[in-house]
Amino acid sequence: MELLTTLVDKGLRGQAPTREEALAVLETSDDDLLDVVSAAGRVRREWFGRRVKLNYLVNLKSGLCPEDCSYCSQRLGSKADILTYTWLKPHEAAAAAEAGAKGGAKRVCLVASGRGPTDRDVERVVDTIEAIKERSPDVEICACLGLLSQRQAARLRTAGVHAYNHNLNTAESEYGKICTTHGFTDRVDTVRVAREAGLSACSGLIAGMGESDADLVDVVFALRELDVDSVPVNFLIPFTGTPLSQTWELTPQRCLRILAMARFVFPDVEVRLAGGREIHLRTLQPLALHIVNSIFLGDYLTSEGQPGRADLEMIEDAGFVVEDAETATLPGHRAGLVSPRRRGAGTDLAPNA
Ligand code: SF4
Repeated sequence: MELLTTLVDKGLRGQAPTREEALAVLETSDDDLLDVVSAAGRVRREWFGRRVKLNYLVNLKSGLCPEDCSYCSQRLGSKADILTYTWLKPHEAAAAAEAGAKGGAKRVCLVASGRGPTDRDVERVVDTIEAIKERSPDVEICACLGLLSQRQAARLRTAGVHAYNHNLNTAESEYGKICTTHGFTDRVDTVRVAREAGLSACSGLIAGMGESDADLVDVVFALRELDVDSVPVNFLIPFTGTPLSQTWELTPQRCLRILAMARFVFPDVEVRLAGGREIHLRTLQPLALHIVNSIFLGDYLTSEGQPGRADLEMIEDAGFVVEDAETATLPGHRAGLVSPRRRGAGTDLAPNA
């Protein structure tokens, strides 16, 4: 297929497709599915070999959020049957992080529900980071705490946080349909604030919330504009007790096409298979490993994933290897783009004008 030849040529050069080409990937037929996976696999292997980076979620604070994101089981008024608790103690979070690291996770993602942290919350997280570093010094730490101020971002960076996750989730034109308590621009601003503080930006999407193909292309290109380093692709988990509980619109084949489109737009960027993979990709999960170079290990924030042992077996059976702590995830030319800020807020040095 000419489209795939073009996409592979561009991907091997680290170039993104046009919007039309990205859209055309989503419109390919099931007859072409294995060709699409194979083409995305060539791009994936060029930049990431057969390595799979494992990430492990630690939910520091669960449920009772004042925001109304319709896809989220922790939202305002959620009737979802989930665990609700306030901040884990640093030693509890460190024990959870250690379990993830022992299971092979290279990155631990510290997540807290809520619109954004107070300064006191950030200090709690800083204490938690110290406790984690004591027990698991090699693990990368990503924080996901909601909307962030510049000062808070700088504080997290100084405390040794490597990355900050804040997903755009869907296209700007769709955002008002999934959330009314904050906007798309708020999310974009936080990704920028994190990057500018020297944190590696992790931001992705949720597919399967009623969006069109064009909306998916829009959000992926918005993420590319933000020059993020990792892109988690979630598939909606339709929790009972949330407004999207009846929304089941994904097939395993569509999930693979969405992942492939993301890979072509981000040839040399970490593309992570995130929430919902078990229920939407089902038996086709191993095929997704030919496209993505990163997955979550084990459970998600409020739902259970397949056991970590099954993930490791799947990776091995599919002929991939778990990425070790010594190997840089991103290719050298991208890894070098993130320079930790050493001036401006939180230092004695003047910011760069
Ligand atoms: S996604 Fe975050 S901000 Fe939105 S309801 Fe869930 S926890 Fe709250």
